Amino acid sequence: MNTKRILEILNKYEIRAKKKYGQNFLVDEKVIDKIVSTVNEGEYVIEIGPGLGSLTEELLKRAGRLTAYEIDEELVEILKEEYPDEKLELVNRDFLQVEMPEEKAVLVSNLPYYITGDILLKCFREKDSLKSMTVMMQKEAADRFFSGKYEYGVLNILADWYSEYHVVCKADRHCFIPAPNVDSTVMEFVFNDRKADEGFISFLNACFAQRRKLLAGNLKKAGYVIERDLGKARVEELSAEQLHELYEEIR
Ligand code: SAM
Repeated sequence: MNTKRILEILNKYEIRAKKKYGQNFLVDEKVIDKIVSTVNEGEYVIEIGPGLGSLTEELLKRAGRLTAYEIDEELVEILKEEYPDEKLELVNRDFLQVEMPEEKAVLVSNLPYYITGDILLKCFREKDSLKSMTVMMQKEAADRFFSGKYEYGVLNILADWYSEYHVVCKADRHCFIPAPNVDSTVMEFVFNDRKADEGFISFLNACFAQRRKLLAGNLKKAGYVIERDLGKARVEELSAEQLHELYEEIR
């Protein structure tokens, strides 16, 4: 997929990118290749927001099967026409509302940036259905995984506890049509075998409720009984392992 082809599709169907859905279409073939190369031949792939098919087209060459969730009905109709392929299942739904398929999948997405956090949280919550996820996000959103300051809070701990993650590549604003006013980073999260646990997420929500306050106070306020003396510890001083250990103790 390149600029010429995206412009052709936009003109052919007389449509424009919709800001409200975070539509910026990827046209840089090197970035597309790097993203798609994180998928192994024959794997079952889930794509969030196929848009005009920049990733979908290449993913179909590798995937055993591909389920793509697209919120914009107009784009779903275009995708059906442009990519008639038995391997492709197009679902016109808000990804945040869908139930994950039974078969374990590799998730790939150039994320709609306005819901990056919500999508990542859903994927960690439902990580038992996923082998990995390769996601493009705003550069600053990716940086928050590496600053060592738990800038996201719960999401940082879930990423540390449930996955190994790294940067796949960077993509500046000129890699997209229309060009957004931010630069982007592609990250891959490879999930481990630890079982998803809603209790742990509730516990983490309590830990981060008032992150500048003492951890002991936050937990007490949420009704957790702690035997151990946590002293003056604040949540930011504990690793994901230490927080999980604490969770196991007070369950
Ligand atoms: N994958 C395409 C690409 O790389 O060119 C499009 C990426 S664009 C940044 C994000 C896509 O997500 C858009 O097609 C948009 O319509 C879709 N989208 C936005 N919100 C969504 C949601 N809640 N569920 C599913 N798709 C969504």
